[in-house]
Amino acid sequence: MTSQDGGRRGGIDLARVSKTFPSGAVGIADISLTVRPGEFVTFLGPSGSGKTTTLNTIAGFVAPTSGAVHIDGRDVTRLPPNRRNLGMVFQNYALFPHMTVEANVAFGMHGRGVAPAEVRRRVAEALELVRLEGMGARRPKELSGGQQQRVALARALVYRPPILLMDEPLGALDKQLRDQMQVEIARLHRDLGTTFLFVTHDQGEALALSDRIVLFESGRVSQVGSPEELYERPKSRFVAEFIGEST
Ligand code: ADP
Repeated sequence: MTSQDGGRRGGIDLARVSKTFPSGAVGIADISLTVRPGEFVTFLGPSGSGKTTTLNTIAGFVAPTSGAVHIDGRDVTRLPPNRRNLGMVFQNYALFPHMTVEANVAFGMHGRGVAPAEVRRRVAEALELVRLEGMGARRPKELSGGQQQRVALARALVYRPPILLMDEPLGALDKQLRDQMQVEIARLHRDLGTTFLFVTHDQGEALALSDRIVLFESGRVSQVGSPEELYERPKSRFVAEFIGEST
């Protein structure tokens, strides 16, 4: 918890985080960044610029070579993903095809000592949040791509985590569904007050959704700022060209 945010949860702090892979490839170098509770922050940049590696140091899937990750003032650098109190949504949804929507959303709650009636209540609430009421008995293949991504969102939100990490969550959807899901994600962020960290290579998506954009270039942060700042006052030609590109 941080006093300046009135005790709200969901703050993230990266202090000089670097990752060099065993192959010698540099994933990220010297990333420092503070995300405030409730903020919508987007990692934007070309393919290979370090967005996913940075997100994965926060999620706990990648251990930094140096530097530290704090969540709400707690050093989580060496903690496994399941002890960081985060929700995560991936591009490929990672749903279980043989299980119903309800079972997919409930999956992670089994074995956590939550009573069955409480599991049902939370699953229904999460499905309502993503507007999938009444779809609980279906299987993933009976849903559209956008609906499957909503199931993945519900599965992450069922715990009401203070932080939701999303790695190119709309990347596999066609343009129309992507636009629709963008609106839904903005609404969820507004309604929940959860910290959203969103990875994309799509400038339009970043400009539409973010409180702040972190623009990556070759494993480093090129510029951090609001969409207006990056658009109107780019610090380099790379920023101007990347932000200015039409989608
Ligand atoms: P982005 O998400 O912006 O596309 P990544 O974070 O996935 O970029 O990758 C950053 C750099 O780190 C790239 O050069 C990539 O090849 C390298 N990299 C990422 N993951 C690995 C890995 N597991 N092993 C070796 N190199 C990796």
